[in-house]
Amino acid sequence: MTHRDTQLAQLGNRQDQQTGAVSLPIHLSTAYAHPGLGQSTGFDYTRTKNPTRTVLEEGLASLECGAQAVVTSSGMSAIQLVLGLFPAGSQFLVTRDVYGGSFRYFDKLQAQGFYQFTYFQDLEELTSLISDQVAAVFVETPTNPLMQEIDLAAVAQVCQGHQTRLIVDNTFLTPLRQRPLELGADLVIHSGTKYLTGHNDILAGVVVSKDASLGEQLVWLSNTTGPTLSPFDCWLFIRSLKTLSLRLDRQEANAQALAQELSQHPQIKEVLYPGRGAMMSIKIQDASKVDSFLRALKVFTFAESLGGVESFITYPTTQTHADIPQDIRESYGLTADLLRVSVGIEDPQDLIADIIQALNA
Ligand SMILES: *Cc1c(COP(=O)(O)O)cnc(C)c1O
Repeated sequence: MTHRDTQLAQLGNRQDQQTGAVSLPIHLSTAYAHPGLGQSTGFDYTRTKNPTRTVLEEGLASLECGAQAVVTSSGMSAIQLVLGLFPAGSQFLVTRDVYGGSFRYFDKLQAQGFYQFTYFQDLEELTSLISDQVAAVFVETPTNPLMQEIDLAAVAQVCQGHQTRLIVDNTFLTPLRQRPLELGADLVIHSGTKYLTGHNDILAGVVVSKDASLGEQLVWLSNTTGPTLSPFDCWLFIRSLKTLSLRLDRQEANAQALAQELSQHPQIKEVLYPGRGAMMSIKIQDASKVDSFLRALKVFTFAESLGGVESFITYPTTQTHADIPQDIRESYGLTADLLRVSVGIEDPQDLIADIIQALNA
């Protein structure tokens, strides 16, 4: 077996025997001719299976060390697909500091009476809340936007004692930095929109299951409900994965340099950075300066997303996490002085200088 970087660089290459095309063809066809009654080439209809998508799904399953991957049209549709595995009335335990869109969806499902969601802060609180009645634990680590890490192997052990499934949203670290399935999780979710594709130009989602039987259920659900990613976006996704390792190495090195520099700056109260990956949050001394700071940025873009080659700053209070009520947000530290930083591949000195000039603006 070749190394991850080799697999990534050559993903999908040289699959077309007829032409020898190096880059994988994009199979736009939705329908596939059958040789005869009861016969199939392996492909019938694109919602069910598509040759371009299959290459992407096999590559992602291998990256996350899982049995089956299913790609979807967005991170949220990946989360919806996974929840579709669970019967009505299921109880979930969820990390408190979770992506605002996930919170909004869980809140609606609970209000509609489909499922119940209870939030926990750390391993200790999870241990006190877990019971045989809990269908699944849903974890983001590091959390968004407070960047707290939780010990996934320890969480998996807690879950295994109760036949509870462990679902991990691995968007922030990618399988190059964290492989939850190897640590005992059952399902991994990604917003493929972020690091995996990394250019702020494709909306995509991924689910990977550890075992084949859960994988079959996901494939069945995906074929039945149709959250499918288009063949063109699958091809762009494959093309983007080829540089994932290079992008992430540079983004992480930039983030480490930025965190070090900013933690010494008098106008910054706190830098929240777990030491790996390229996401961090900063708390500024004077929250009333958030608007002038954002307006003064020249290299960073003030926008809501993350993981791209270009650096972004997000204000979770009014953007990504606006749907979490203010009292809940502030109770766990998501305060009005917090800005979330997604570090790109630009020159690190330009990034540092941009933040410093904007703090002084
Ligand atoms: C963006 C994001 C999502 C949602 O993904 P979309 O592709 O925007 O639908 C889910 N989880 C995390 C951690 C995210 O950052």
